[in-house]
Amino acid sequence: MSERPGERPPSVDALARSLSAHGLPHPLLVDVARAAIGAGEVSSAPERAEDKARSLLGPVINATGVLLHTNLGRAPQDPATSPGPAGGRTGFRYSNLEMDMSSGRRGSRRAHAGDLLARASGAEAALVVNNGAAAVLLVLTCLGQGRQVVVSRGELVEIGGGFRIPDVLAASGAELVEVGTTNRTRLSDYAGALGPEVALVLKVHQSNYKMVGFTASTSVKELAGLGTLVVADLGSGLLDARVPWMEGPPPAWLADEPAVRQSLEAGTDLVTFSGDKLLGGPQAGIIAGRADLVERCATHPLYRALRPGGLVLRALQDVALAYLRADGAAIPFWRMAGASLDELDARAQALGVGTVVHCTSMAGGGSVPGLGIPSIGVAMEGDLTAVLRLGRPPVMARIEGGRTILDMRSVDPVDDEALAKALRRAGA
Ligand SMILES: *Cc1c(COP(=O)(O)O)cnc(C)c1O
Repeated sequence: MSERPGERPPSVDALARSLSAHGLPHPLLVDVARAAIGAGEVSSAPERAEDKARSLLGPVINATGVLLHTNLGRAPQDPATSPGPAGGRTGFRYSNLEMDMSSGRRGSRRAHAGDLLARASGAEAALVVNNGAAAVLLVLTCLGQGRQVVVSRGELVEIGGGFRIPDVLAASGAELVEVGTTNRTRLSDYAGALGPEVALVLKVHQSNYKMVGFTASTSVKELAGLGTLVVADLGSGLLDARVPWMEGPPPAWLADEPAVRQSLEAGTDLVTFSGDKLLGGPQAGIIAGRADLVERCATHPLYRALRPGGLVLRALQDVALAYLRADGAAIPFWRMAGASLDELDARAQALGVGTVVHCTSMAGGGSVPGLGIPSIGVAMEGDLTAVLRLGRPPVMARIEGGRTILDMRSVDPVDDEALAKALRRAGA
């Protein structure tokens, strides 16, 4: 629709109908048309409709090499695969979310993903909530409200997106007792703070930053000897430091990442972690450890407000079952992390575009700061990031030394052909 001075703008409805090819429901097209007319830019309507369509949730090809990309939903998910009691039938479905199939009575949503994750990590019990922040909030509210929680000054961190340990503590109604200094906190610092008002010692994984130089921290093993409850917010949810679901020894890039199983073995009473970081599942938070403490969290009224729905629990159940089978290849994150350079090189060559280059992937998601995973990518001349991002399907890439780098490690092999097409379109 053209705009000439003096010409009457089209009606909102006519303009909206002219945009029907964008595949949006009519009310959204009406909003777009109204905004375009209101701005005196009728000709911008198709572009506005395209922007609106782009803003909807949808699949993206992640060629950034950041495997747990916060802006791209962290750990990617395969479609649900576990058969459940329906024996693998597909179609319109209910689930046994809160039905005990053996007795036919009301069951508990804690009986599947939570129990399986406990089994897979050696915890007595586990409880699933909506995210890592909710796990920390529930534990601190349940065990620390109206009492004191002791935290090292080196661990009063901000994880990103406004999640700050002191703020969560304040929201829980617990009183923060800071011990040690920014760079060094010893066991004696914790011991000096203990008293009848102390509910627990909280150990927080520094996740997205690293302290180097003159530093000292106290291990959970030492803290466990203090005679008070010890809770560790592990953040990234590496289930077992030995990584038995992957072939060979634990990969070098995992370095000293604390793990759920070993933290509990060392005497931590409860650990909290995210579902969608190194665990490789959907957005969720997990509380694992002593059964009596997990039970207190599960029966606290706040749990009801923080519990996840069946879609998340189903996806998390698949991940837990994969861990129990020691089948890392069934978890997209570990499949990507474990892909060999030969494999990645063959895929990069097969794209038939650009120059095949060595590059470095990152685990991302605030886990394992600073350690890269060697990878293979394709380099294209110039900055194609915007063109690729605005294409269909959208492709996210990164810039290095004036070239656009597409890292094969974070791309699902089923998307290689779509990636090659997108690159040919963008580079032409
Ligand atoms: C990521 C992280 C959180 C927050 O978890 P979300 O799942 O993002 O809510 C909390 N604590 C630590 C140590 C983390 O790394």
